[in-house]
Amino acid sequence: MKLAVLSRNRRLYSTRRLAEAAVQRGHEVHIIDPLRCTIDIASQRPSIQFKKQSLTGFDAVVPRIGASITFYGLAVVRQFEMMGVYSLNESVAIGRSRDKLRSLQLLARSGVGLPLTGFAHSVDDTEALVEMVGGPPLVVKLLEGTQGRGVVLAETQKAAESVIDAFRELDANFLVQEFIGEAAGADMRCFVIGDKVVASMKRQAKEGEFRSNLHRGGAATLTRLTPEERSTALRAAKTMGLNVAGVDILRSNHGPVVMEVNSSPGLEGIEAATERDVAAMIVQFMEKNAKPNHTRTRGK
Ligand code: ADP
Repeated sequence: MKLAVLSRNRRLYSTRRLAEAAVQRGHEVHIIDPLRCTIDIASQRPSIQFKKQSLTGFDAVVPRIGASITFYGLAVVRQFEMMGVYSLNESVAIGRSRDKLRSLQLLARSGVGLPLTGFAHSVDDTEALVEMVGGPPLVVKLLEGTQGRGVVLAETQKAAESVIDAFRELDANFLVQEFIGEAAGADMRCFVIGDKVVASMKRQAKEGEFRSNLHRGGAATLTRLTPEERSTALRAAKTMGLNVAGVDILRSNHGPVVMEVNSSPGLEGIEAATERDVAAMIVQFMEKNAKPNHTRTRGK
């Protein structure tokens, strides 16, 4: 196969590993910075130029689109889809997963376990919002946050109201969520490829912190998922329409609840914790599924 890894930086661990694994399995790999791609929207013959050359003959693309370049990055993925190139994760599915609120709405509809979550626009509704999630302690989350940024724990009614008011002053979009204290700062990262959870790890927040993100000093260890956690992760990925996903799950008193579904899950932490060759598994998945014109939505 001729593969394109869409990534801004070829030195990133995940980008490097995906390229290595593909080369090892005999494929031709190009690492392409999506921000350097020019999209030519000509009627009937969509194309993409990269450094003045037309990108042709690709069988598949692996989008590694960072949150900060979602808009342009997804336009590039969509253009590949328009050209009939298979995308490991489709542009529409990645777009869905980038919107926390939209994701939670879709997950709720398909019956995936979630923390009680509320969202309101008006200042007058602060009280109702706090009540909706069962009162404090609660978590307030900026919709645009990543890597645990903009995720705040409010332990009292007063704290909750001041955080909510502060976010409103800033005109920020945020949601309010029941605090899953019983998770004790741990979450499960479930790495999904196709219809399997191929690797999983438990991430434990550092002392005095409730956010378990590795970027915030969380530590990863091996874990065994329960069958219910496994099926929750698979259903979450499927609901989002993602072939490859990192599903984050908390262990709550009311069963596994999904925090978020990541469409560009990092490989470094999970490969180190599990000693599994997750990159090779992704390439194998593409070998099975990347047929020309195979994208279901073709970018629609
Ligand atoms: P981000 O997308 O920025 O990583 P998350 O919503 O995943 O934001 O939150 C980051 C971390 O904070 C989670 O991995 C989890 O450890 C912790 N966390 C988030 N929401 C809750 C909650 N409602 N209850 C308990 N812990 C939470």
